[in-house]
Amino acid sequence: MSAVAVVGSVAFDDIETPAGRAAHVLGGSATHFAVAASYFCPVHLIAVVGDDFPADEREYLASRGIDLSGLEVRPGRTFRWSGRYHEDLNVRDTLALELNVFADFRPDVAAAVRRAPYVFLANIDPALQQGVLDQFERPVLVACDTMNHWIASAREPLEALLPRIDLLVVNDEEARLLSGERNVARAARRILDRGPRTVLIKRGEYGAILFSPESVFAVPAFPLEDVFDPTGAGDAFAGGMVGHLAATGDRTDAGLRRAIVYGSVLASYIVEDFGGRRLRTLTRDDIERRYRQFVALTEF
Ligand code: AMP
Repeated sequence: MSAVAVVGSVAFDDIETPAGRAAHVLGGSATHFAVAASYFCPVHLIAVVGDDFPADEREYLASRGIDLSGLEVRPGRTFRWSGRYHEDLNVRDTLALELNVFADFRPDVAAAVRRAPYVFLANIDPALQQGVLDQFERPVLVACDTMNHWIASAREPLEALLPRIDLLVVNDEEARLLSGERNVARAARRILDRGPRTVLIKRGEYGAILFSPESVFAVPAFPLEDVFDPTGAGDAFAGGMVGHLAATGDRTDAGLRRAIVYGSVLASYIVEDFGGRRLRTLTRDDIERRYRQFVALTEF
């Protein structure tokens, strides 16, 4: 079984959704990814937190078997993000974003971690994503996420990264911003022209579509009656998907499709409670049960 290394944010979030609010919950793109992937394969986390990061949150991540030797602690405050979702949960506003200790984070990836075959560049400054990717020896699969904030403020380093990416994970709004095309299929085509081997476009409650030059695969989102908080759904999706790929090593079209369904399963769980809380009690049996429900849902 291969390991996956992830670089991205470890954060505290303040979240408001139509279902309620949560303050100062453990979040961050790398956190949600790492927890989701940890159900499938070994995970190395590369990130930085401030000296305000509590020991019990560290213990929670360690309890998932996540390697925290690359989680630096620096004097200062941990990354903070606050966001508010609209009635349409696919739309959210960032109310505040404080990079704090991330502002000058330039990690030196440990020798053992540099050999990880699967690399996930979770949502963070593209220059930092690139600096980390440069340190890996020969990854077999590099996946990358980003966000409106970086597409608007760091387009050049982001575009420079794209030809080195096997799987770009974006939501439909980000795909439009990155490509300048409104239609999702056209946007995907334009993005593929810029270098990534495949692009996965997440469409919130409508599911996700994987585009490659040869094929298109669509998966619905699990039809939940109550969605409390969509934060981290994209990262949990990527964690389930890349984690499953690392566990099986099956990068055929069929293997990729199964991995996407596992990604959808993890995403469907994380939205059931605020701030990734649902993943704290999630079991591998829960994952397999919902995987079978997904199969039944899409079989005809
Ligand atoms: P997602 O809902 O999958 O986009 O992920 C949301 C998570 O990403 C939250 O837990 C935030 O802490 C984190 N986040 C929000 N904005 C940024 C940003 N600009 N860079 C890195 N991480 C961010």
